Amino acid sequence: MIAMRCPKCGGVMNFEEFMYGGGGETPWSYEGWRCVYCGEIVDPLILMNREASKAAEEEKVGAGAGRRRR
Ligand SMILES: [Zn+2]
Repeated sequence: MIAMRCPKCGGVMNFEEFMYGGGGETPWSYEGWRCVYCGEIVDPLILMNREASKAAEEEKVGAGAGRRRR
């Protein structure tokens, strides 16, 4: 298991599967983390976007610190 910390409150996050269904549209689900304290939801897409912008910033700075994983 991956231990996730809430970006808002630093609390423990649970890995969950979110279902998005209904309305005759194709139901889909995705997996993500939900903070047990404040309810903040972080999903892989958000993480990917954050990583992308983070990497771009690091490239701009040119620190060469390398990319952090997760
Ligand atoms: Zn939280």
